[in-house]
Amino acid sequence: MPKTNENILTTVLELTGLIQGVGFRPFIYKLAKLHRLTGEVYNQNNGVIIHLQGWNADIESFITELPLKAPESSQIISFKRSEIWKPVYTDFSIVESVSIDDSVTLISPDIAVCEGCIRDMNEQEHRIDYPFTNCTNCGPRFSIIESLPYDRQNTSMKDFEMCPVCAAEYKNITDRRFHAQPVACNNCGPSYSLILNGETNEKLHKILLALNKALSESQVIAMKGLGGFHLACNPFDEKALKKLREIKLRDSKPFALMVKDIATAKKYVELNEAEEVLLSSLACPVLLIKQKLSNKFPSDINRGLKTLGIFLPYLPFHHQLFKNIKHDILVMTSANFSDCPIIISNEQAVKIFKKHQIPILLHNRNILNRVDDSVVQLSPKGMQIIRRARGYVPIPVLLNFEVEGIFAAGPELSNAFCMGKGKQAILSQYIGDLKNFETMQFYEESYARFKNLFRFSPKAIACDMHPDYLSGNFARKLGGTIIQVQHHHAHIAACMAEHGLDEPVIGIAYDGTGYGDDNKIWGSEIMVADLENYERKVHFQYVPVPGGDKVSYEPWRSAVAYISEAFSEGTPFGLPFLRLIGKNKLKMVLEGIEKKVKMPLSCSAGRLFDAVSAILGICTHATYHAEAPILLENIAAEHVNDFYSIEFEDVVSWSPVIRQIVQDLIESKIPVSVIAAKFHNTVVQVVFRSVLKLHHETGIKKVVLSGGTFQNKYLTKKIVDLMENNGFTTYLPQLIPCNDGGIALGQLVVAAKQLEKCV
Ligand code: ZN
Ligand code: ZN
Ligand code: FE
Repeated sequence: MPKTNENILTTVLELTGLIQGVGFRPFIYKLAKLHRLTGEVYNQNNGVIIHLQGWNADIESFITELPLKAPESSQIISFKRSEIWKPVYTDFSIVESVSIDDSVTLISPDIAVCEGCIRDMNEQEHRIDYPFTNCTNCGPRFSIIESLPYDRQNTSMKDFEMCPVCAAEYKNITDRRFHAQPVACNNCGPSYSLILNGETNEKLHKILLALNKALSESQVIAMKGLGGFHLACNPFDEKALKKLREIKLRDSKPFALMVKDIATAKKYVELNEAEEVLLSSLACPVLLIKQKLSNKFPSDINRGLKTLGIFLPYLPFHHQLFKNIKHDILVMTSANFSDCPIIISNEQAVKIFKKHQIPILLHNRNILNRVDDSVVQLSPKGMQIIRRARGYVPIPVLLNFEVEGIFAAGPELSNAFCMGKGKQAILSQYIGDLKNFETMQFYEESYARFKNLFRFSPKAIACDMHPDYLSGNFARKLGGTIIQVQHHHAHIAACMAEHGLDEPVIGIAYDGTGYGDDNKIWGSEIMVADLENYERKVHFQYVPVPGGDKVSYEPWRSAVAYISEAFSEGTPFGLPFLRLIGKNKLKMVLEGIEKKVKMPLSCSAGRLFDAVSAILGICTHATYHAEAPILLENIAAEHVNDFYSIEFEDVVSWSPVIRQIVQDLIESKIPVSVIAAKFHNTVVQVVFRSVLKLHHETGIKKVVLSGGTFQNKYLTKKIVDLMENNGFTTYLPQLIPCNDGGIALGQLVVAAKQLEKCV
């Protein structure tokens, strides 16, 4: 230890990342003590600063062990080491936080209850059966925060004054709850209450008994959770399911199921090792996974799909519930209606559910940030997020370049927006379809909340090229330079940003709809792109969209458009699906196409999948978004490698394939499962041949796949395997959705690159 006067050389470590509110400073304190080091640690608004004095060997082993032993829920992003001269420290201590500028540290997402807390609920006197038990490693975070810094006064826990026991834990450096902001116990924290038959019950054991009884009486339960309300019932009880559909205004999406534990999950689904890791990760997402054939769930649960959406208990209360009921699996679906956001307020819940006469479980901790359950699946590349919300938001995507001050408004449907902060892209939680008034309000509220939380001031706006998107309209009012980003370029750029790619790639953007440069509807774009620009190289031939917006719920319309295109000599009226459509409607659409009535034109992959699904009679009328392509994938036979013959240059006409499909169906009587597989394989061929051609032109070997179509695991796996076996490297969006929920990230980075060039 070299010395000058009273000052000695001191090691300074500056860390950034997810290191506040996750027990990081106590961890540093203990590690320093272990290595006989003196100094201090403190939070700064953009990270954690550590000063160390001691023997060099001790400092080195401290630094080696730091990332290895850091708390599970923390994430170190950057690490800077320097030295300064400082007076001698006699001890190691945690000192007051310092705020230096507008830079911010990461806010932790909400974390599922940890094992230590479950144990405390059985052992700690003041926490016996306490359903809001949490610690520095687990509990609510994003859902309860209002502003920074992350301390209790800035969260919805400010309504609850800590009791002396909790306060002592909070102040005790060696305690698991040192500086755990939401710390609480039976004596001081939030509590549950149950409204049933006009009476309110606040005794937890009575609540659990009543819920058990309600479930056995075919009841649906409204339950306030972490980021919103759920509706729960017994998944084997048809009467309860019927009631649930009624309450949900006949929304027909498959229901998510909460299972008691991993062992129970294995009873119902085919769980491999990687999926088990995903299911039990800190975020506790809903995992889409193959169900076991032995299952006898009513069709209402997953509407004929081979997959189930399952997740594990993540609140202490969920664990208590399963302990006290005779079921090991429950429907646990978000309480929202007709595309409205999930309910978060007690008042609204009581108002809505009272009329259904169902038990309403409330608690008195306010949900400040609405955050739905996240949905993931295992892709050929690992985890793939489909809905990014609870457990993941607001973890940023880290970039290699500045995006400060850029607000990306996102798409109109499946919206999430994105804010640029330094080199971080902060994507909001899944917000939804902005055409809905309440959802648009949610968007505006979330913008205000993020702006405040991340000390954001917009200098530039990135939005879609579509002139009427509500997200774009909102963003334009904020002022600043406006940069319009093409939808499919944004899809590709988002995936590139996630994977740190900043070079020309071959991009495949397949999805349902997106506004193109030629004012037509795109959605089958194969491009050579970098983060700044793109060149569209291959796409499907345009077909008319009879009925405009109606097509997404009436796939038969796309089928008729494709059939008319393929059979110019006359419609093959023998096609079974045509019988499922009202004669007048069919006549109108056919005449419209024949007479070339002005209709929007689309080349989207989504419409093609819709058309094939309808032609095969699998889905002519969809009851939820993308049902036709989902059912088409669902039915596709495995181990079929055939495909239809197809020739193309820059524009892919599907007419020859449609004719072969019709022949297979009507004349050759090939099973639809085989036709569906052959169709998928043909799409694989189109992608592969296009990529080969572009590779020969450009030499590029990196292929980026994005757009909602790549949620299709059958298609994606085949494309990825074929590409990788031929020496290409493929990239899929994984931590951000490949659907429109990831668009805002792409808009943000494209805008940043274009602005960079202007400077
Ligand atoms: Zn815990
Ligand atoms: Zn307490
Ligand atoms: Fe899209």
